[in-house]
Amino acid sequence: MNHILTAICIEAAGMDSRLPPEQTPDCAASYLTDESRLGGRAERIFFPRTELELVALLRAADQAKATVTLSGARTGITGGAVPEGGWLVSLDKMNRLLGLRRDAGQNHFCLRCQPGVTLEALDKALEKKTFPDEANWPAEDRQALEALRQSGAWMFSPDPTERSATLGGMTGCNASGARTLFYGSTRNYINRLRIALADGSILDLRRGDCRADERGRFRLALPGGVIREGAIPGYAMPSVKNAAGYFAQPGMDLLDLFIGSEGTLGIFTEIEIRLIPAPEMVLGVIGFFPSESAALAFVRRARGGATGSEPPDLPSRPLALEYFDSHALDLLRDQKRKVGTSSPIPALPSDAATAVYIELATSERMLEKAAEALLALLDDCGSRSDSAWTATTPEETERLKAFRHALPETINQRIGERAQKVPGLTKLGTDFAVPDDALLKMMAAYRALLDVAKLDYVMFGHIGNNHVHVNILPRDLDEYARGKELYLELARKALAWGGTVSGEHGIGKLKKPFLRLMYGEDGIAAMRAVKRVFDPAGLLNPGNLFDRQT
Ligand SMILES: Cc1cc2nc3c(=O)[nH]c(=O)nc-3n(C[C@H](O)[C@H](O)[C@H](O)COP(=O)(O)OP(=O)(O)OC[C@H]3O[C@@H](n4cnc5c(N)ncnc54)[C@H](O)[C@@H]3O)c2cc1C
Repeated sequence: MNHILTAICIEAAGMDSRLPPEQTPDCAASYLTDESRLGGRAERIFFPRTELELVALLRAADQAKATVTLSGARTGITGGAVPEGGWLVSLDKMNRLLGLRRDAGQNHFCLRCQPGVTLEALDKALEKKTFPDEANWPAEDRQALEALRQSGAWMFSPDPTERSATLGGMTGCNASGARTLFYGSTRNYINRLRIALADGSILDLRRGDCRADERGRFRLALPGGVIREGAIPGYAMPSVKNAAGYFAQPGMDLLDLFIGSEGTLGIFTEIEIRLIPAPEMVLGVIGFFPSESAALAFVRRARGGATGSEPPDLPSRPLALEYFDSHALDLLRDQKRKVGTSSPIPALPSDAATAVYIELATSERMLEKAAEALLALLDDCGSRSDSAWTATTPEETERLKAFRHALPETINQRIGERAQKVPGLTKLGTDFAVPDDALLKMMAAYRALLDVAKLDYVMFGHIGNNHVHVNILPRDLDEYARGKELYLELARKALAWGGTVSGEHGIGKLKKPFLRLMYGEDGIAAMRAVKRVFDPAGLLNPGNLFDRQT
């Protein structure tokens, strides 16, 4: 066969057969759900600390024909980490920062991490340039650390808002965040993965090591003469921010197949991330607008023309452009009123109907020019620049971030309260992203359908990527049913206009019908075929992306 493939290293992992520490599901009930509030069940819950322990567990599961669901920090909102029976494996205890190397040619650093490292722990280590295990790192890695300390600030740019998220979970869903507009998603920052397959063999895959051929065929030779071969799904992916289903492109790097596969193909046991230089200074501004159309005009001019090809009306392309609609501002006002003086939410201007958060990378020298241009653009678009909130120091930026974080938190809290009165209610949160030229149509469709239906909803999110989340908050089961119908109608529109059903949250267990809508039965069959290559018995993360076939 005519495969373009370079060699790939598969090692026989150690033979230690001791199972990792375990807790009963009764004692560890919080592991049976995630931020989606979907409820799950598991027979056993394990907490491996090393790759060897994980491999022993996988071999035991393989023998027992037990399914294995993987759990990171469970901040996911599609039920991806929620078990449907079988064994649950928490990666909580695999949380070490393992080593650093300098990629001198590329002028960046690469950090090796266990999958349970949280974004919070990573950022703290990078800020202080101190790593808990550094004394145990090999000499070469400690030298790289010295070089890191002697250079400027470095960062890992993906930031899915919730800082307790783990690198394993983020890689599993190809997470994004506000600055994805400028820096791209998690995928762009993964250099290498060690992946435990369902039978316990370890795949060590570096970017550039292994590609599918132009027809999408791939072939892996394992030690002992085992050959695994298959084909990347043939569907065309939309040209938008996308986290729906397996990444698929002819000639693609095989690493990209695993990133965003939601734990269905293998378990990441080590992740090498690429660090990039942090901007010298970030100017963050929340501008308030009298209407949605004024805010959208600002977004268009701040971002540049269609597809970003025209230059923005600002000194540089924004790092982030985030939107808050009138319902979002009202919800925050209401939350502030309820919580009282201890609320971290600052008082919002009373005449503000919508808001946009924008970040520009700048420097001490250029700050004034950047701020002037930004405030002038706000004024030009109908926002009073004197009402804008501005942040330049890390503390001020944190305050603006806390404001942004308060919104999804408040939404989750409100729906949690409603669900206590009406069991079965969940929020219905869209994750559609569309091409630049479909943004206005999509926003108009949201308004037209949701306002007519008289549903309680909030709209916010990554407008720079044409990726606004609509969160429908049903008050009863009738509204829930109507909300679901509307969701489906909106998904159809997003797809018809060249978009995706998931820009960042993934499919998990809750959005499977929309994945089928996007790629059809053939697309699902092609994904199943890929899964069979790496996990023939369908043991890993059953129920994610598509139903398990028994
Ligand atoms: C308030 C709030 C705001 C959010 N904002 C954003 C946002 O802006 N952008 C965004 O992208 N997301 C956002 N999220 C969703 C969530 O934070 C991300 O999806 C995050 O990446 C999940 O990480 P986690 O560690 O919690 O993973 P989990 O939820 O535990 O797991 C996610 C998936 O990854 C799999 N997985 C976990 N570990 C591994 C591993 N080692 N190997 C293979 N698969 C694994 C799980 O089985 C599951 O399928 C938000 C969530 C909340 C609560």
